[in-house]
Amino acid sequence: MTMDAHRLRYLKALDIDVWVSRGAAEEVVRAEAASVPPEQAANVSVNVNVGAQHAAPLRPVEPLQPSVVSPVAALDWFELEAAVKACTKCALHRTRKNPVFGVGSRHAQWMVIGEAPGADEDAQGEPFVGRAGQLLNSMIKAVGLKREDVYIANILKSRPPNNRDPAPEEVTACIPYLHRQIELVNPKLLLCVGRIAAQNLLNTDTPIGKLRGQVHRLGNRPVVVTYHPAYLLRSPGEKRRAWQDLVLAMNTMQGVAS
Ligand code: SF4
Repeated sequence: MTMDAHRLRYLKALDIDVWVSRGAAEEVVRAEAASVPPEQAANVSVNVNVGAQHAAPLRPVEPLQPSVVSPVAALDWFELEAAVKACTKCALHRTRKNPVFGVGSRHAQWMVIGEAPGADEDAQGEPFVGRAGQLLNSMIKAVGLKREDVYIANILKSRPPNNRDPAPEEVTACIPYLHRQIELVNPKLLLCVGRIAAQNLLNTDTPIGKLRGQVHRLGNRPVVVTYHPAYLLRSPGEKRRAWQDLVLAMNTMQGVAS
């Protein structure tokens, strides 16, 4: 995979410790030098490790089908959004401020799937805002895209009180909305961020550490798992692994596109 200087700048901004080829590192140094006045260029230094890419190998697993069949599967975008806004299928509708439907391009090639709205998302009615949202945006930039290029949605559309884990019955009630969003967007790749999103989408209780590093399937669609940005904010040392996941996702996307 070609690593360009533009992308490396975002990784550097994320404090992600990235292994890159010597040529790519030199490219960053040149780009950094070109972006500062000549009198300062001699002092430019870029903190990247030079070595081999550490992307995990592609290891497709058995296809998984959506576990829930629902009348929601027949809805169009307008009907689906209206259904979520009016939804009372689980108790979370009583405590939410706003349903959080999803955001981004409805023709996206990448779809990011998270867990559930937090306080900021509940207040604004949009997924991944606040600090975790900013980090997700940076992760999206790191793969060469903008937030508006991808579609972002959660397993749950309403906030669980105190950010507790979703209850199984809440997921059962809500996940048909997500499955329909996936069908309507028809992305080439699903990027699951966090254990809850990955386990519920893939219908497994396998720990996230074992779900990472391989390409799963939802139907014929590839699924790559990485850490939730909120976790990465608490555990910045894991950002390097998250970058490996993004490299796997980019490699997978290249394979899909070719
Ligand atoms: S979480 Fe999902 S199923 Fe529950 S009320 Fe909200 S939209 Fe409906």
